[in-house]
Amino acid sequence: MKKLCRNQQLKQLGSQTFDILVIGGGATGAGIALDAASRGLSVALVERNDFASGTSSHSSKLIHGGVRYLEAAVTRLDLAQWRLVREALRERAILLDIAPHLIRPLRTLVPARSWYQLLRHRIGLWLYDRAAGRTLIAPSTLLSCQQMLASFPHLESTRLKGGVAYHDASFDDARMVISLLLTAVQRGAVIANHMETEGFEETNGRLSAARVTNRLDGSRHQVRARVIINATGPYSDHLRQLEHPANKSRLTLSRGSHLVLDKSWSPANDALLIPSTSDGRVLFVLPWQGHTLIGTTDVPASIQDDLLPAREEEQYLLDHLQQWFAVDTCTHNILARWAGLRPLIATSATDTAGIVREHLVETGRKGLVSVLGGKWTTYRKMAEEAVDHAIVTARLQPSGPCVTRTLKLLGTEGYTPGLAGQLMTGFGLAEDIALHLVHAYGGLAQTLLEHAGQQGHRRLLAGHPYIRAEIAWAREREMAMTNEDILLRRLRIGMLDEQAACRLAARIALET
Ligand SMILES: Cc1cc2nc3c(=O)[nH]c(=O)nc-3n(C[C@H](O)[C@H](O)[C@H](O)COP(=O)(O)OP(=O)(O)OC[C@H]3O[C@@H](n4cnc5c(N)ncnc54)[C@H](O)[C@@H]3O)c2cc1C
Repeated sequence: MKKLCRNQQLKQLGSQTFDILVIGGGATGAGIALDAASRGLSVALVERNDFASGTSSHSSKLIHGGVRYLEAAVTRLDLAQWRLVREALRERAILLDIAPHLIRPLRTLVPARSWYQLLRHRIGLWLYDRAAGRTLIAPSTLLSCQQMLASFPHLESTRLKGGVAYHDASFDDARMVISLLLTAVQRGAVIANHMETEGFEETNGRLSAARVTNRLDGSRHQVRARVIINATGPYSDHLRQLEHPANKSRLTLSRGSHLVLDKSWSPANDALLIPSTSDGRVLFVLPWQGHTLIGTTDVPASIQDDLLPAREEEQYLLDHLQQWFAVDTCTHNILARWAGLRPLIATSATDTAGIVREHLVETGRKGLVSVLGGKWTTYRKMAEEAVDHAIVTARLQPSGPCVTRTLKLLGTEGYTPGLAGQLMTGFGLAEDIALHLVHAYGGLAQTLLEHAGQQGHRRLLAGHPYIRAEIAWAREREMAMTNEDILLRRLRIGMLDEQAACRLAARIALET
């Protein structure tokens, strides 16, 4: 894998007219860049902050059909919801295949406190299995109280009647964006982070270029393209209004918050779905990278809102945790807290939790193609539809059809489930380091270690699996430009343990 120099990418940005310019480097934009590049189209992508710095690194890390949506499909006999669940489950199978190092099956347990609840969960998850059809990861099973407690020893057991286990998948969202983009670069895409689109140029009433400012040095650039795709998630309406001030808003935003606790809340690496909340939703207790995520909330929000959980949201999450666990949540240290904005297609519904998470691709009056709504699980499908749309809008000439159903992402080559063991033997690594490297970089973990030498294999911080070589790798091959880019989105420590991330930031500053 070659080095990736931002300055060179910037030169290329200004040197040609691209078939497609993508604005926004989250899941949607990265998926579009890869789809377009792999169809032989010339494509550029600019991101205002860092890649994946928006909603796409603040998700619950689930690749799922959504049992909650299935419940809505069944209780309201809603065929559209049922189709969405099935579509997402088909995408789940594709993603497990194209990025097996980043996306892995996750056993999820649903507890029940009455026989009626247990029967309801059993039937519901049996239906979820049916919705998955041939893409089923493993059939759902009924669990006794003892089996529930074996996975979650601190569950409040006096009223527990048992539970049901089913499978979805969990992943590293920010690294998935990086992997999509690097795979796109290998196919000729030109990408740059910290480049904000502030306006458009037009020729004969059609958009022909974006005015872009480099937020690292203030320089201004123009990027020319036959068609521009707006993949700015929660900011999509802003871009649509830059195209034409009369464009009406299409999005409703909702904020979702997570708290990060230590591993003791999910010691067996199973997830727990808390099946009902005071506002009629579900909550997850999720094992993730040696920690436990608790989430998420769903409160109406606006683009100006602070992206930290409000005090009430934090209390809401802790209160629900307390209802199901026999441990005092007050005594537990919250290691990190963060929130993201869901870009939802606006409906007349006032309750954002009730809005169907579907997507929409529209072409604006001056040719801006906007991809609105959606969820992480369906990014590939959204990207396929957006590129199909762009091809028609700008009469582009791709060299072939969409291939992303089977296109393996960078890191898949050389990845095997036994790779961590080989790295432990070959490079004398501790188990946690080897597992982390394999899950973050897949087959490229071997290359990273070979490039680094012994010094680079040293652990950066006690109790965390990151090694020194990853810092240089992030800067030289993954376009990390700031400490935040490294700590929040290449290593993820900033989203897992805020204090440890501060210590690591100081260490990085000393070493550079
Ligand atoms: C709390 C929460 C939990 C979620 N959990 C899940 C889950 O478990 N599974 C699932 O499938 N989905 C989940 N989702 C939904 C999913 O995360 C989002 O649908 C998805 O990440 C949206 O990606 P995006 O690329 O459209 O938006 P974003 O990731 O926000 O990307 C848009 C990008 O555009 C950039 N941008 C904005 N304006 C400009 C500009 N002017 N110039 C250049 N760049 C610009 C932004 O900086 C940003 O990086 C969750 C969402 C939330 C909020």
